[in-house]
Amino acid sequence: HQGRNRCSYYAPFMQEAVQTRMRLANDLRSALSALNDSFRLFYQPIVDLATGTTHKAEALIRWQHPTRGLIHPMEFIPIAEETQMILEIGDWVFRDAARQAARWRLSHHAAFQISINVSPVQIHNMANARNWPDYLQTLGLPGQSIVVEITEGLLLDASIGVTEKLRAFHEAGMEVSLDDFGTGYSSLCYLKKFNIDNIKIDQSFVRNLAPDSDGMVLCEAMIAMAHKLGLKVIAEGVETPEQRELLAAAGCDYGQGYLFSIPVPAEDFEALLNRQFK
Ligand code: C2E
Ligand code: CA
Ligand code: CA
Ligand code: CA
Repeated sequence: HQGRNRCSYYAPFMQEAVQTRMRLANDLRSALSALNDSFRLFYQPIVDLATGTTHKAEALIRWQHPTRGLIHPMEFIPIAEETQMILEIGDWVFRDAARQAARWRLSHHAAFQISINVSPVQIHNMANARNWPDYLQTLGLPGQSIVVEITEGLLLDASIGVTEKLRAFHEAGMEVSLDDFGTGYSSLCYLKKFNIDNIKIDQSFVRNLAPDSDGMVLCEAMIAMAHKLGLKVIAEGVETPEQRELLAAAGCDYGQGYLFSIPVPAEDFEALLNRQFK
């Protein structure tokens, strides 16, 4: 599996890891037969740093495992990707998020937007995603209700016609955000080439923000560049009032992070909607 005819000695922990993975993959397969009972979307506010208001949220999936409780995406998304199960799960994420966007557009703000994370595997195989625009129409929802978050790795892979696929989202009115910005290898020209609407500055840059620090210089540069290109900027991992202030002073449009709220179930999110983060 490591390639180049490499071999390694067997150790019991390897067998254990393989078994845990196989067990999770099996459980995941069962979960697919009852998507609504197995998975839940949690929501984290994306706060307008100038006004302290919330008209956007990111949907983050949780797996309600029958014996292990809530499992975080880091543990099962990679398995779902390897096994292609992400196609079905990702389609469920889109539909559930769209229905939630419809509700919050009615009850809270007419321009409410929900971001969903879309795996490269889903872009490679658009069988499900191709029906998304129709689903939005069925709900009477404009495309702007949904923002598709992708990662840089995808943009490097020119072979699969990523441009056309992202165009399909744009044509339906959806926005595209580039997640974990600054951690990958993409060059600035990708932002224009793929018509990216928003960048999300990775939390690793936000973590060490201090006045006159290198982190500050990098954030300021990313924000200035994105704005020159007509993009909006969301900072991830905002945990302290100081980080928020520095980002706001640098002109960052939106912030997301534990300072405002951890990701919470939809019911709990509603209390946040009416709160202003001053
Ligand atoms: P991401 O898209 O970069 O999401 C941000 C992650 O950072 C979330 O972890 C969130 O809970 C966490 N976070 C938010 N604010 C803070 C903060 O202030 N400090 C710190 N330290 N962390 C913060 P989560 O929910 O465990 O999700 C992990 C990753 O799993 C996501 O990273 C995303 O790549 C993936 N993921 C989540 N939901 C989905 C989904 O529906 N589909 C796919 N394909 N991937 C998903
Ligand atoms: Ca994301
Ligand atoms: Ca991210
Ligand atoms: Ca990069």
